[in-house]
Amino acid sequence: QSVFNRLPHAIYFAPGRVNLIGEHIDYNGGRVLPAAISTGTYFAIARNGAARANVFSTLFQERKTIELSELLSIKATGHWTDYIVGLLLQLNNSFAPLAGVDILVASDLPQNSGLSSSASFTVGFGFALCDLLGFDLDRVSLALAARAAENDFVGVNCGIMDQFAIAMGKADHCIELDCSSLEYELVPMHLAGYEIVIANSMVPRKLAESNYNLRRTECEQALNVLQKQYSVVHLCELSASQVESCTELRKADVLWRRARHAVNENERVYESVAALKQGRLADFGICMNASHDSLRDDYEVSCPELDVLVDAARSIPGCLGSRMTGAGFGGCTVSIVESATLPEFSARLLEAYARSTSY
Ligand code: ADP
Ligand code: MG
Repeated sequence: QSVFNRLPHAIYFAPGRVNLIGEHIDYNGGRVLPAAISTGTYFAIARNGAARANVFSTLFQERKTIELSELLSIKATGHWTDYIVGLLLQLNNSFAPLAGVDILVASDLPQNSGLSSSASFTVGFGFALCDLLGFDLDRVSLALAARAAENDFVGVNCGIMDQFAIAMGKADHCIELDCSSLEYELVPMHLAGYEIVIANSMVPRKLAESNYNLRRTECEQALNVLQKQYSVVHLCELSASQVESCTELRKADVLWRRARHAVNENERVYESVAALKQGRLADFGICMNASHDSLRDDYEVSCPELDVLVDAARSIPGCLGSRMTGAGFGGCTVSIVESATLPEFSARLLEAYARSTSY
């Protein structure tokens, strides 16, 4: 009320997301296993009777106005409102003319830490707007619109995992998702007595983008070698033994290790889903540990700080497994921790991290 001089019509929440396992394989035809999380983005929204969207972000303490009549000529500037304009443009394709709204956005997600504050922001805004204005947009279409807003307007070359997990997430479930076909299954998580714990390394992800592109190229090169022997379209169609036994690829040590990560990680996703369905949480933890070790040694996308967090977490009683999550070179770790040991886990993790790093 103090920002827009009116009360909101409604308040909405969009979660962030964490990828539990299945790292760096979405672009290799593999499956991912993200879950929506309880930190995220809040939206207070009301119609304003004008042909403009007024947006205030508590994060940036800034209010901006977007004239709806000028929507088609607005250019992206790198400002946080790009996400809003990008999504308005998507909705404008199907639901023009859009009505004016006032929106206040607040968030308890860290930015640029691999928990997808941008998708939470964009999907949540889209959901709130559609609900308020009565637009009939199903959740998968909303996820696709939010991704298109990032790809086409903001200019970020992201996949669909984040938007999908945020739009389709469900309490006490994670989502097994094929990012190319959008085939998915909600997998129940029987966490009784355990928690998903996310630890933020606070390391800026400076190297993440260039290394992400490099890894993609390396995977394409590995695939080219393997395609001489096997007729496949994606790395993840191969088994670990097929990759192991390709002598030509073995000679190119780096490419061989990249491919090995992809196929092993893909198999770990299947193992994890089976373990979770059967309530074998300890086995899921073993998969998480193996995932981190593979990302550190074969895929080389971890960093010393993430390794410190993971090693410390694993040494604390009550932790079933711990791994880096997201693209790497900073960002967060995810661990499965016994609820009763949470206070001790947090204290010991913080203490170990402060002792070994400058963050
Ligand atoms: P990540 O998605 O990993 O958190 P990104 O760089 O993709 O990191 O997205 C962060 C950007 O998303 C912010 O710089 C800002 O432009 C936008 N954003 C996210 N949450 C908010 C918010 N609550 N208010 C305004 N902009 C936000
Ligand atoms: Mg993002």
